Amino acid sequence: MKFLSSQQNLSGKTVLLRADLDAPREGNKILDDSRIKASVPTIKYLIDQGAKIVIVSKNGRPKGWQEEYTLKPIAEYIAKLLSKNFVSAKEYSDQYFNEVVFFEGDITKEGAVGEVKKLSQKNIVILENIRFYKQEEEASPVFAKQLSSLGEIFVNDAFAMMHRNEASVSLIPKYLPSFAGLNVEKELNALNKLLTLKADPFIVIIGGAKISDKVGAIKNLGKSAEHVLVGGGPANLFFLAQGFEIGESLCEKQELDVAKDLMRNYKQKLVLPVDVVVAKAKDHTQARVCKPDQVLKDEAILDIGPQTTLFFSKIVKASKKMVWNGPMGLFEEKQFSHGTMSLALIFAARCKGYAYGVVGGGDTLDALNKAKVLDQIDFVSTAGGATLDFLAGENLPGLKALE
Ligand code: ADP
Ligand code: MG
Repeated sequence: MKFLSSQQNLSGKTVLLRADLDAPREGNKILDDSRIKASVPTIKYLIDQGAKIVIVSKNGRPKGWQEEYTLKPIAEYIAKLLSKNFVSAKEYSDQYFNEVVFFEGDITKEGAVGEVKKLSQKNIVILENIRFYKQEEEASPVFAKQLSSLGEIFVNDAFAMMHRNEASVSLIPKYLPSFAGLNVEKELNALNKLLTLKADPFIVIIGGAKISDKVGAIKNLGKSAEHVLVGGGPANLFFLAQGFEIGESLCEKQELDVAKDLMRNYKQKLVLPVDVVVAKAKDHTQARVCKPDQVLKDEAILDIGPQTTLFFSKIVKASKKMVWNGPMGLFEEKQFSHGTMSLALIFAARCKGYAYGVVGGGDTLDALNKAKVLDQIDFVSTAGGATLDFLAGENLPGLKALE
């Protein structure tokens, strides 16, 4: 794989950049700008190298050409971050130079490619949401070829998209010399370090809502891990698998066989809660601590209990390598946040040179942020599914294409 960071002769070259500018929005208001901000280093690197830039990205999950998913507010935001002016291609006139131009048109229309090319000679061009085209998710080679005609070099910096077989992710490298962007390089270095660094004990912490999307990662990491600590929905599933009453707890009941299989194959490694915080399922009142097999029918398990927190903390404190995905409980509600918050503090403290710690998952990042320790973690992966698939040892189409 070739990396952009070792490429220094881009002056005058037109680079087609697959960036990850995805952001949750409320109308034009951007609610979380972390991915947009994370794209800036690669864009600046390209600017510094004297490259001309055409940016491709998606936002949300539009069904066709849906105005509410336009990339325009994100393009405006990028312009601001780069301290450049913003103009849409419709309103463009020749006086603009070295600014951000948003191309709202359909690049498959007659003459559009030529127009984008012309704009990109003097400005940074950002194309409209690439998921507006059904050819993107269909992974259409014709569409990928059309896209590649917009640049001379392709840079993929969208690590979070690497597990998708989509035109702008995994097909463009067929047509252009291609490089991994700075973000992708950073993610690969950190995740490879997690997989290969010889540092024992290695522990895996799993929680959150679902086990189905994490089971591949648990299995692969579980091979070399000493302990797999389990909280949240996955723990509830393991309780159910042991025949315990779990009341109305969050649980993926259809994954019961997966849990049983994991219990058979990783039995000595799985560390389940020894106590839990439960409350009435309908209104979360009458919270109490009990053993996992003492949950009542009208209750729900909403956090790990104090003994478990202590027990998990001891294991974290003795570890040399750690990875965490998924909160231990319903941390959004204060009375059920203690397990997750305590673990966050101990995990972060361990990252101060005692162990190598990696975290991933949108809600896990929220929890660590709430505990004010996110900046202390050795590596924070911002990609969800792509990170899990990578840690599961799978081949990611976007990465494979760059090789
Ligand atoms: P991530 O985004 O970090 O991958 P998930 O999306 O899998 O994590 O799950 C996070 C969600 O799971 C949080 O909203 C959290 O409140 C919820 N959760 C975790 N444990 C429980 C529980 N015992 N009961 C209800 N919700 C839970
Ligand atoms: Mg989540």
